[in-house]
Amino acid sequence: GVVHRSDELVVPRARVGRVPVGVSSRRLRVVVTGGAGFVGSHLVDRLIERGNDVIVIDNFFTGRKENLVHLFGNHRFELVRHDVVEPILLEVDQIYHLACPASPVHYKYNPVKTIKTNVMGTLNMLGLAKRIGARFLLTSTSEVYGDPLEHPQKETYWGNVNPIGERSCYDEGKRTAETLAMDYHRGAGVEVRIARIFNTYGPRMCLDDGRVVSNFVAQAIRKQPMTVYGDGKQTRSFQYVSDLVNGLMALMDGEHVGPFNLGNPGEFTMLELAEVVKETIDPSATIEFRPNTADDPHMRKPDISKAKELLNWEPKVSLRDGLPRMVSDFRNRILNEDERKGM
Ligand code: NAD
Ligand code: UDP
Ligand code: UDP
Repeated sequence: GVVHRSDELVVPRARVGRVPVGVSSRRLRVVVTGGAGFVGSHLVDRLIERGNDVIVIDNFFTGRKENLVHLFGNHRFELVRHDVVEPILLEVDQIYHLACPASPVHYKYNPVKTIKTNVMGTLNMLGLAKRIGARFLLTSTSEVYGDPLEHPQKETYWGNVNPIGERSCYDEGKRTAETLAMDYHRGAGVEVRIARIFNTYGPRMCLDDGRVVSNFVAQAIRKQPMTVYGDGKQTRSFQYVSDLVNGLMALMDGEHVGPFNLGNPGEFTMLELAEVVKETIDPSATIEFRPNTADDPHMRKPDISKAKELLNWEPKVSLRDGLPRMVSDFRNRILNEDERKGM
């Protein structure tokens, strides 16, 4: 395990005398970047539950302290306000790198910051992983497949992505992040793991992040029409957050680099999704058509045979079972919001 570089001789610590990971009894030290966000906070809960020491790094762009407030005071938990675009020094065993705005509204708000987060943020976390011999997991996205010409998408598909569009800061950013991860893996011996996450929903999603599940659920609760973009015949596959967290942990603790698709293969049109939300929340809910956004992928559905075979993972929660689990969280937050506004 000696890697020759032009300027130095590096013996990757990742390959020298590391303690096997995935042992729940050991006090594993784990960093979760973006841990104050939707997916990150659920992951942190599970890591703390299994007895790990967890450091969250977050700049609170889209994340919220409320998502972690139940862990304040827990001696295993630390929250650091930090922007991953800047370097940081820490000593840990595993790095889950989630920090990145994930919904179109957020990532288009400041596209330059989004691509900086994807490129410089990922570079810093890989540099950290290299220095301390930590294992590094990147949460990439199904958006690397762009508007796919292959359906369903396998990990071998290279994608159909517009490099100069409004979504590029996110999807090209994640593609570059994947490249960086593989180059640190091949060039510096860093143990990396790559997850390509498909649309995920659940409690703690941002209320007004413009994503279709959060929009429809919030609209149905607020007795507003559900906004269907375009003809509503485009498809997506929706994964419940606990399934994703299981997949991320199986990937991190397993022996395979990936990339792995992590998603629920159940495929729905937006009109079908509106129907399920209607059945779940309010039978009198209505829909309203709106023009669609640029470069909106027509369909998306993961092929998850690779994760099934190599990670022994598959999602367990169907859309009809998962939706009700986010409704009470959304109801409470919408109620609190209304109270704050004095409604
Ligand atoms: P989120 O917006 O809820 O969480 C992202 C977190 O990263 C937030 O807490 C935010 O404050 C933090 N963050 C953003 N930029 C940062 C920076 N420069 N420095 C430090 N912290 C920063 O989004 P999420 O849905 O939880 O997504 C988590 C990860 O999963 C993201 O990398 C996203 O691209 C990926 N992903 C999510 C989905 C999904 O459907 N939710 C799908 C594909 C990929
Ligand atoms: N880095 C960091 N924490 C560390 C080690 C590195 O934030 O503990 C950052 C470092 O500042 C650099 C990036 O990670 O910007 C890449 O580090 P690497 O050592 O791979 O590259 P170099 O510093 O040699 O350019
Ligand atoms: N969408 C919709 N109504 C909304 C928000 C989104 O019909 O209020 C559509 C959107 O055009 C897209 C799909 O839902 O076709 C999924 O959008 P989202 O932003 O949730 O995820 P992504 O496009 O990243 O898959």
